[in-house]
Amino acid sequence: MSKLKEVSVKKELKSRDNPCDQVAPAQTTHELLRIVRAAQPIPRVAVARRLGVHRRRVTVLVKPLIDSGILREGAPDRSVGVGRPPIGLSLRGEKVFLVGVNIGVSQIHVGASTIDGKILSEDHFPTSIDPNVTITSIRNSVAKLSTDLSDRSLTVVGISVVGPTDCKRERLLYAPHLGWRDIPVADMLNLDVPVLIENNATATAIYESHRRRQQGATKTAGDFVVVRAGTGIGVGLVLGGEVFRGTTGADIAGEFGHMTIVAGGKACSCGNFGCWEKYASAASAVELYVGDSQRAKMRGTIRFTDLVSKATAGERRAQVTLERVGSHFGIGIGNVICGLGVARVVLSGELLHGWQFIEQPARAAIGMSLAGRLSRWSLEQGDLHGADLGGALEVAVEHYLATIVGKTTRAA
Ligand SMILES: [Zn+2]
Repeated sequence: MSKLKEVSVKKELKSRDNPCDQVAPAQTTHELLRIVRAAQPIPRVAVARRLGVHRRRVTVLVKPLIDSGILREGAPDRSVGVGRPPIGLSLRGEKVFLVGVNIGVSQIHVGASTIDGKILSEDHFPTSIDPNVTITSIRNSVAKLSTDLSDRSLTVVGISVVGPTDCKRERLLYAPHLGWRDIPVADMLNLDVPVLIENNATATAIYESHRRRQQGATKTAGDFVVVRAGTGIGVGLVLGGEVFRGTTGADIAGEFGHMTIVAGGKACSCGNFGCWEKYASAASAVELYVGDSQRAKMRGTIRFTDLVSKATAGERRAQVTLERVGSHFGIGIGNVICGLGVARVVLSGELLHGWQFIEQPARAAIGMSLAGRLSRWSLEQGDLHGADLGGALEVAVEHYLATIVGKTTRAA
C-alpha cells in the first residue's frame, strides 16, 4: 500500500470513530444546509460543532456548495450594524423565492418568501367548500405573486392541509372537516414548479425543527412530538431532526385526532364516534360551551378566542369548559407519549390561546397516565402565530434544500 493510500485509509477509519461522520454524505449535507440557513452567517467551526463532525469534514462538504454558488462565505446580505461584520457561511438565493400555502378549514393563507424565510408578500381568502374553486383561487394567487416578484423566479410551492396525504405528497387523501376526498392538489394546480402537499401537523413539526435550529439545537436535541389542536387535532413526529411520515405506502401517520377516547362518544366528521378531537380541539371547546340545546341558535356566532375572553373575564362556565377540554387534551397526550415513546411534546394551534386554563388539567391528566408515571415527559409551547404559513413555507424549503443536496452529491 502506498504511503498516500495508507494515510487515506487511516483517515477514513478515524472518521468512522465518530458516529456522526458515518451518516450518509447526502443526509449530512442536508443537515448542514439547514443549520446554515437557521444560523447564517455561521462560522465553519460552529457548523462542525453543531453537526458533531470534524472541521475537515465540513471543509469537504462545503467546497462543492461554494463552488456551485449555493453557499457564500463572508458578510451576510443584510446590514449587520456598526463594527466588523461577522464572517461565516450563508445560503445564496437572491434570484429565487418560495411559496407556502396553508389550506385551513375556513381560510387560505398564501405567502412568498426568500430562502432564509423573509416574507415578501402575503394573501388571504376564504376556503371554498368546493375544492375546484379553492384550487383555482390558489393558482390565481400564486400567479399574482409571481408577477409582483418578477425580479425573482418561483422554485417550489409547499402546501399544508388538514388531513393525510399520499406518500408522494401530491394528493390530499381526506379532509373530514372540508368533506374533501382524494384531491390531486398538485395536478390541479398545474404549475411549472414542484408542488408538495403536507399534512399540517407534519408541516408544523418541520417548522418547529427549524425554530429549534435557530435557537441552536443539534440533531440529538431534535426528538419531539408536535400536537397541533385547532379545528381538529394532528400529531407530527420528529426523530433525529427528521420528520417521520409513516412507512412508504401507508399514506397515514399522526392521525391521533381520530383515536377513540370515549367508547360510543360524540359522532366525528371521520365517520367514527368518540374521537380525541371531538373532546380536546378548539372547535370541540366551543361546541361544549354552547351545549346541545343552544347549538342551533349560537352556532357560528362564537369563536374559540371569544370563549377564552369570557374565561379570562371570569365567566365560570367558560373556565370550566376549558378545564374539561384540558383534561381530555392531557388524556390524549398521555396516550401519544405511551404509543410513540417520545416524551418531549411541543404544542401548537389555536387551542394554545386558552393555555392558562387548559395547562393544569392537561398536566394532571398526563400525570395520571402510564406515561406520566414512567417517563420524564415535558410540554412546551410552540409558536402560536407563525406555524400555519410558516409550516407550508418550510415544506417548500425542505424540498429546495433536498434538490440542492441531490445535485451536489450526484456531481461529487
Ligand atoms: Zn374522527
